[in-house]
Amino acid sequence: MKVVIALDTEDILSETAPDAQLWWAQELHKRNIKATFQIVGEMARKLERLKRFDVIDAIKEHDIGYHTNYHSIHPTHPEGIEGMSLEDSVNWIIQHEESGIQDIERLFGTKPFSYTTPGLSWTPATLLANHHFGIKVSFVGPYTSRYLPYWYCGQLIVDYGHKLNFEQSFREDCNEESFFIQLGRLKEKLKGIDATVTIYTHPGRIFTANHWDLVYKNGMNPSIEEATPPPYWPEGHSDKIKKRVTNILDRLLEDPDIEFTDIQTVYHNHQHNKFDMENIKSQTPSGEYIPLLERAESHDLFNEAIGDFDYSSWVPHVEGFNPKNVFEHIEGLAWTTKI
Ligand SMILES: [Zn+2]
Repeated sequence: MKVVIALDTEDILSETAPDAQLWWAQELHKRNIKATFQIVGEMARKLERLKRFDVIDAIKEHDIGYHTNYHSIHPTHPEGIEGMSLEDSVNWIIQHEESGIQDIERLFGTKPFSYTTPGLSWTPATLLANHHFGIKVSFVGPYTSRYLPYWYCGQLIVDYGHKLNFEQSFREDCNEESFFIQLGRLKEKLKGIDATVTIYTHPGRIFTANHWDLVYKNGMNPSIEEATPPPYWPEGHSDKIKKRVTNILDRLLEDPDIEFTDIQTVYHNHQHNKFDMENIKSQTPSGEYIPLLERAESHDLFNEAIGDFDYSSWVPHVEGFNPKNVFEHIEGLAWTTKI
């Protein structure tokens, strides 16, 4: 199976985050693995304020991706566009993300090629706005058990490791075998499929015992200055985690079933069944915005994807938050799917 490594570069609260990012960028580069760093706009600005150009330079050796301007800080995309038309939603997202995209380009010297949504907060309008910013691949979209990239809302959609994550081996009562048990299960499931699997992590988690953004849970919205950073692992545990990660990387490199690839290669290998924004526009009546159409039965990908999709299961959202218009956008754009 083909494997992409992705890193959600987002912890704007912990002092240790830049060092963690540097460590990952260097360890991957040493092993000739071109990962994709999904960078939050505010994180990029923080690296600049801290003058951590060593971190920026190390990340530049990899693919530069985008992970929103402010991640879990409210309003998230589905919160911001609640009740809006598709066109107004896209414009809202462009307005909120523009400065983040510009800062990434300014600091990393390139436009982001790919995008990852924070948690479960993706929306179709996000994907359409991504096209506006020149982003080609989105690691989001209707979550399914497929591991084959496909087209939706003009973006190539690639699975985002919701089954495989380096952090599965981080807890004190775990070791790298926890990761390899999951990998074994996935290999079994994907036998005979030319699958592309993303293995992801949050670089900061080698030092922090929890996610940085829990302070934004359930609609809470402290300012960045007032927000409490996450706790650190007990003394000595980060060194154990680093050892586990390098062991995992070395074992993956030796695994004959694993072929490391990078996201630009995945994109270039999926041009044969392309259904990008040009195709969408050619099927949109002139003078109209992209239409929402009734979903055809042939789009059965969506039964699995939307069936139990729940925006409120992402920690920052309040219980029961499931904006009706966003589900209408998801279904109404099923016609832009090409598998
Ligand atoms: Zn994230």
